[in-house]
Amino acid sequence: MENRFLVDSEFLSPQALARKHQLETDPSSRKSHMEYLPGMEQLHSDVRDKVIGQMESYDPARYTARDVRAALDHETCSVEDFKALLSPAAEPFLEEMAARARLETSRHFGNTVYLFTPLYIANYCENYCVYCGFNCYNHIQRMKLDMAQIEHEMQVIADSGMEEILILTGESRAQSDVEYIGEACKLARKYFRMVGLEIYPVNTDEYRYLHQCGADYVTVFQETYDADKYETLHLMGHKRVWPYRFDAQERALRGGMRGVAFSALLGLSDFRKDALASALHLYYLQRKYPHAEMSLSCPRLRPIVNNDKISPLDVGERQLCQVLCAYRIFLPFAGITVSSRESERFRNGIVRIAATKVSAGVSTGIGDHERKYTGKEGDGAQGDEQFEIDDSRSFDQMYRDMESEGLQPVLNDYLYV
Ligand code: SF4
Repeated sequence: MENRFLVDSEFLSPQALARKHQLETDPSSRKSHMEYLPGMEQLHSDVRDKVIGQMESYDPARYTARDVRAALDHETCSVEDFKALLSPAAEPFLEEMAARARLETSRHFGNTVYLFTPLYIANYCENYCVYCGFNCYNHIQRMKLDMAQIEHEMQVIADSGMEEILILTGESRAQSDVEYIGEACKLARKYFRMVGLEIYPVNTDEYRYLHQCGADYVTVFQETYDADKYETLHLMGHKRVWPYRFDAQERALRGGMRGVAFSALLGLSDFRKDALASALHLYYLQRKYPHAEMSLSCPRLRPIVNNDKISPLDVGERQLCQVLCAYRIFLPFAGITVSSRESERFRNGIVRIAATKVSAGVSTGIGDHERKYTGKEGDGAQGDEQFEIDDSRSFDQMYRDMESEGLQPVLNDYLYV
């Protein structure tokens, strides 16, 4: 069968191909992706088995138009209905799915749309994810902001009016340890009402510490729920340990975080199975932790520095729209975030149907908010970007555009008392 996944192809960098060859030919260089490394906490949770059991038995080709019709006629969407809505048989029903999704969104979220911005504070990474611009073999400008630089970036962002920030690092404990991230959270608490983290997965006690420093929620992308496929894409580093990553959200909740977010990177593997697993990961954890705020993201692959060929071959905008509508119908209460990886046109449309949160004023580089937000050059220190974004609208522009779509932009919906 023709290879449908570009990240497996000859477009990979020579280093990635060499490393893949080494893994294939030299078993001693291969650490099992299912074995925990020393220091990694192990949870004995039943959620993983439930999600993977459902995903492995899911055959999207088995569903028919009749199954999709029945799913849309049901008032409550079951797991079986959800599988039908994600299947190829549902593609001709996209208009109807969008109408139903729109109804559910307005029923549970009114006409609100939440705005936030990411802040990358470091781009060092010890992992080798072949699709990511931060991977340890990609020759890019590396940088880690010090506390004064982080505070300056936060001031610039806060001056724009933004009230939620998502702090990101590459995945390097050596360069960006938990204390460093904790200090960044303490600074963020001074300037923002909501602080999210997208960092390497850590243990429960470390999530507890980061929560005490000011973090409200944690986002972890599983990338793909197909563990065998996962191994072929993550060639080095602690990130290879698939089960430790899977349990990150549960550890974060046990550590006191208010919310968690989930996602697969659509395009790495069978996107229908990955979409199913992402939503079920949220679904089963929500049943276990009903108080927690949970949301889904839906990123697709994007070109990276030194490899502009990286892209999802089989996840077009129609397929992405189908996934998002199915998410909304199955999980009417869940937040759905659509990042600036997607185009302005797509995001303007999907916020009126299924999405509840969008990023604005985005940079995936390091230390360049002053230039992007004010036009000033700042101290000139900058690190390269993780991936290319498609929608580069500023916070002001996004706010105005959402209003002109008939939506009410929301900057914060939570108050600590
Ligand atoms: S996806 Fe994350 S862990 Fe992988 S190379 Fe990029 S920053 Fe590092």
